[in-house]
Amino acid sequence: MTHPFLDLAPLSAAHFASVEDRVARLLDTAQDVVIMQGEALLPLEGAIRATAGPGTTALNVITGPYGQTFGDWLRDCGATVIDLAVPFHTAVTAAQIRAAFTEHPEIDFVSLVHAEAATGNTNPVAEIGEAVREQGALFYLDAVASVGAEPVLPDAWGVDLCVIGAQKAMGGPAGVSAVSVSERAWARMAANPRAPRRSYLSLLDWKERWVDGGRKALLHAPAQLEMLALEACVERIESEGPETVMARHASAAAATRAGTVALGGGLEPYVYEARDAAPVATTLRTPSGVPASDLVARALAADPTLPLAAGGGRLAAEMIRVNHYGPAAAPGTVRGALTALGAALAERGLPVDLPAALHAADAAWR
Ligand SMILES: *Cc1c(COP(=O)(O)O)cnc(C)c1O
Repeated sequence: MTHPFLDLAPLSAAHFASVEDRVARLLDTAQDVVIMQGEALLPLEGAIRATAGPGTTALNVITGPYGQTFGDWLRDCGATVIDLAVPFHTAVTAAQIRAAFTEHPEIDFVSLVHAEAATGNTNPVAEIGEAVREQGALFYLDAVASVGAEPVLPDAWGVDLCVIGAQKAMGGPAGVSAVSVSERAWARMAANPRAPRRSYLSLLDWKERWVDGGRKALLHAPAQLEMLALEACVERIESEGPETVMARHASAAAATRAGTVALGGGLEPYVYEARDAAPVATTLRTPSGVPASDLVARALAADPTLPLAAGGGRLAAEMIRVNHYGPAAAPGTVRGALTALGAALAERGLPVDLPAALHAADAAWR
């Protein structure tokens, strides 16, 4: 019996290369794009281990949990790490990055998360990229949560290693990811004796055996199911139009934010300023004494299809995540989330104005 997932023909090298080219077009980049066949943590870790070592001084910007992870990898590689942590309710500024360069002129590597789905903030990468270029540092960017939800432009911004994953705003599977690599980044890897080689983590293997060989022979059997899914999700973004997809995410964020403010009941946008709030997901702060995990459980009991989650770790006490990405970047999802959260707050005796919330959300949807 035929089955949509099974008995797939092997994916050819030419097909694999064409998917890479398609991702490169999405990122508007002339850099090499290497598709990694694993969840985005594979290129995120591979790129750090390839480019950082005992001679590296890294500025590691922490605006959420992923920044903490990158700092741990950098230290593990022997790099000297300067952590720049900003509160999760805000974004980092280019001025803060410049101040770090003034204080530590030896910085030659900057790691940054573009948008954080886990905390709901987004950072001004274009401005930061300018500062990083002036410093001459290598610029590593986690754009997993931003790609598809807002512009991600490695060439225009001077990003040397730009990592994306398909599982957030692209609406794809979690098992495939990609990284764009600048010439400077390849040179740094080649000069790094500790860069992984002959390893699944290795980007250099792909450079030497795939890119430099004219992309004729793959290193191993490609994960054809994930590759076909990645191709399909880029195709879908192309056919809807990247601008339209991004506008949908921006509208979902604006509508969730406006609706929350009008809802009342003590629920507030977690990120103070709208300009720092990520289009991919909106985080909300619960009233004091009302655990986010309790409100989320009540809301999901009413509608299990809503993309709601409590924050991770200690954030579960006070943070609700509205993951309005991919197909969930839709007016119905925002209305549903406001309705269910409003009911959960009302159950706890908190005063809410649901009609006002829905009206504000509809008005904010651009
Ligand atoms: C989702 C996400 C990733 C991928 O990690 P998972 O925990 O496996 O989803 C990486 N970086 C950022 C900023 C993300 O939002």
